[in-house]
Amino acid sequence: MIHVERKVEEEEEEYKFKMVSIKTEGNKSIVEFKSTHNTIVNAFRRVILDEVPTFAIEDVEIVKNGSALYDETFAHRLGLIPLTTDLSAYNMKSDCKCGSVGCALCEVKMSITQSESGYVYSGSIKSEDPAVKPAFDTIPVTKLLDGQEIEANCVAILGCGKTHAKWSPGHAYLQENGKVVDLVIESFGQLSGKDIFNTSVDVLIGKIEELENKL
Ligand SMILES: [Zn+2]
Repeated sequence: MIHVERKVEEEEEEYKFKMVSIKTEGNKSIVEFKSTHNTIVNAFRRVILDEVPTFAIEDVEIVKNGSALYDETFAHRLGLIPLTTDLSAYNMKSDCKCGSVGCALCEVKMSITQSESGYVYSGSIKSEDPAVKPAFDTIPVTKLLDGQEIEANCVAILGCGKTHAKWSPGHAYLQENGKVVDLVIESFGQLSGKDIFNTSVDVLIGKIEELENKL
């Protein structure tokens, strides 16, 4: 009989950190951390990519699609358009009081109609809530020839990057400069870098509380 004994050495690394500043320029924000371990900053990075919610079009009802794109491709392109997001006013549909049926607190209705020939841009999408609309007006969705037209009704909902990349709020990566670790956030336009970071802090605290309650 073999007896195996494993010696576990206690790790005494300190997971304390000091956040120094957030600097924003254009769509890029840099959060500076001092005296911390990369793993802590990486936890924020992973939460940002996967669990900071944003709005994206999820359901598309196509009334007319005379363009060369298949209905599925047209709907897919609509889903990928970044939408400005107001996290304070909406619930995730899965957590909403309506029981995931869909209501004014978890859905935003949009529509897109065009009958003139030429490109159809994201700016043609009309939203019932001015706070939730395309972040950029010049993203081409499809192209129409003379006599062709499109008409579609859409529903946008909050979602997370772990479900589909269309809900990811941006890129996030680490840069090391000696004892300082920078968390670089490049927003796709739905939320500001500061809102992305602040939301990631809330999500991470929520996870730690959930773990504490289960222990
Ligand atoms: Zn609802």
